[in-house]
Amino acid sequence: MRITLRETADKLKSAEKILLTAHINPDGDAIGSTLAMLQILRAMGKNVSAYIDDKIPKNFLTMPCVEEIQRPAEGEKISADLLVVLDTSIDRTGKVIDITDAPILNIDHHVTNKGENIYLYDEPTAAATCEIIFKLCEELGANITKEIAICLYSGLATDTGFFNYSNTKPATFRAAASLVECGVQPNLIAEKFEERTFRELKVMSAALQTTKLFFGGKVVGMFIDEELFKQTDTTEGFIDLIRVIDSVDVAFVLTCREKNLCRVSMRSKTVNVAEIANKLGGGGHIRAAGCTIQKSFFEAKNILVHAIGQYMIETEKLTSKEFLLNQEISLADFEI
Ligand code: AMP
Ligand code: MN
Ligand code: MN
Repeated sequence: MRITLRETADKLKSAEKILLTAHINPDGDAIGSTLAMLQILRAMGKNVSAYIDDKIPKNFLTMPCVEEIQRPAEGEKISADLLVVLDTSIDRTGKVIDITDAPILNIDHHVTNKGENIYLYDEPTAAATCEIIFKLCEELGANITKEIAICLYSGLATDTGFFNYSNTKPATFRAAASLVECGVQPNLIAEKFEERTFRELKVMSAALQTTKLFFGGKVVGMFIDEELFKQTDTTEGFIDLIRVIDSVDVAFVLTCREKNLCRVSMRSKTVNVAEIANKLGGGGHIRAAGCTIQKSFFEAKNILVHAIGQYMIETEKLTSKEFLLNQEISLADFEI
């Protein structure tokens, strides 16, 4: 059931014991919105705890209160008045969805969220869940401390590519400006999030070598196999290296995490990649989406490239001549 922001605030006000969660494979917005909510609700006198069923990437480990995020134990059961699911539909919360029978309040900005049998506040035009939480602070009459501001700014910054992507709206800048007034230092956040080890840079360079163009150059893919994946803590930002290619509309990174478990990240300039991800059982936003394909690396690659090509033909982003031009051009084929 879809509800308004006011009703969302009312649900939070009337609950005493609240569990918070966000999506697995957590990003700055998932972690930032969880940590901001934790602090906001605690200041309101609520009994709050936060669970994310995944490892927190090391670049986010300096965020205020991050040490309070727990991973649920196998079979753990907790009674609560409300489970708040942030920055995702309920299917990407791992084991957390099973730890409680409490009613679910879902706050999200993904266009693909269907939100059946739960209370859903979904605002696809918001750049980040943190932008929604910023507005929610006003509904709740919550004071935004410097620590809360750091968490909210982190989500805005990561989901907008530091205010570069097409989801960046005047409201996003206004929220960011207010958060800077609350004490956020944007340079410090950018430095932390962009930090890479030398080893990770070497993995990035190896990943770049796997890059291939498809369909006459309108699609580019990066292929990270299990062995390469084992050498890095994160593939965050890898897609940004390839989406900049002049001829490219759709960029993807295919990562084989373990046997028959391949993760897909997609970005686009004009194509609706949320629809492609949706067809493959995933979701996301028009210009940034993802899915998981439970097939071998090779099969996943064929399924993905075909799905992208097919969708681009259907939406007239590719001519049938370009579709047939599906020979792969690898970076190594170019004279430097
Ligand atoms: P990423 O490429 O991992 O940064 O993800 C891009 C966007 O797609 C994010 O907003 C994700 O929340 C969303 N997304 C990624 N993977 C999935 C998935 N398996 N199911 C639904 N949404 C996804
Ligand atoms: Mn997210
Ligand atoms: Mn988000």
